[in-house]
Amino acid sequence: MSQILIIYTGGTIGMMSDPITKVLKPINFEQIMDNVPELEKLNCKIKVHSFEEIIDSSNMNPAIWSELAGLIEANYHENDGFVILHGSDTMAYTASALSFMLENLGKPIIFTGSQLPISAIRTDAKENLMTAIEIAKAKKNDRARVPEVCIYFDYKLFRGNRAFKYNSSKFEAFRSPNYPILAESGVHLRFSANDIRHPQDGEELIIHNNLISDVAVLKLYPGIGQKVVEAILNSDVRGVVMETFGAGNTTTDDWFLNLLEKAIKDGKVIVDISQCKVGTVELGRYETSKQLKDMGIASGYDMTFESAVTKMMYLLGEFDDPALVKQYMEQDLRGEITVS
Ligand code: ASP
Repeated sequence: MSQILIIYTGGTIGMMSDPITKVLKPINFEQIMDNVPELEKLNCKIKVHSFEEIIDSSNMNPAIWSELAGLIEANYHENDGFVILHGSDTMAYTASALSFMLENLGKPIIFTGSQLPISAIRTDAKENLMTAIEIAKAKKNDRARVPEVCIYFDYKLFRGNRAFKYNSSKFEAFRSPNYPILAESGVHLRFSANDIRHPQDGEELIIHNNLISDVAVLKLYPGIGQKVVEAILNSDVRGVVMETFGAGNTTTDDWFLNLLEKAIKDGKVIVDISQCKVGTVELGRYETSKQLKDMGIASGYDMTFESAVTKMMYLLGEFDDPALVKQYMEQDLRGEITVS
């Protein structure tokens, strides 16, 4: 019989409305289990690890990502898969971070949560939880069907580092426009086998636990001032995620390009991702991005913002040399990027 470890970190799925203030607050895992007697009927053993401090995912941070990676490592061999209950607000960041932290992953890590608490009558939590467990234990020819870090939400399974939260009020909270969904649940659970990654045979899980969150974000808008850009680029960080226009374009004002060039000379790594949610960065396609390419800005291609930030944290922890950080930033490490 398969064994699945459920790790409970918090989020709306496990919240209850305070009878007096009406504010949603986290509850403990036993109270959650009481709301899903169906769990007993699943044909698998379920173990539970509840975090001591149950959080709203807005309080998520890299130290907790390390704790999660450590838990997975410690329980890796005795479990067939993992389901992580997590608030949806920052779920895509945690899923992206873990995808980089867990190299050669051979077992499913399925993140899920819900928009309504599990105790609410119209809750989406039960379906999300039950199917996440089904996916975590799904095997074919004795191999996990989806040995990836994923997000399961509203009948769809997404690659974690390709998804982002795009809707705060519909049950369909996540999207992944630059990569196909990995499975869809309806009358049948259908996996898209060709879109799912598997580790090379014989490769062992490697945990990378040294994330460095020295990362700044430069989001461009017409009229952005020199002082703002200076403050960001001169700040004491090693990596900058620059959110640009369209296919990776920026203003060509001299002061702006000079500041970028200086930041790179100072040893910062700057990655260019687009404010568009669909499509890819193509450095050099327009005059407005040719200079960016020439000065050594990394192309983020079609990476999500969540992936770009967490990949930068991961690479800064792995390499001191900015040239190596840039080189790996532009490579597909965990299926997070389509290099064109
Ligand atoms: N604020 C909640 C959280 O991210 C929202 C949710 O769970 O969907 O923890």
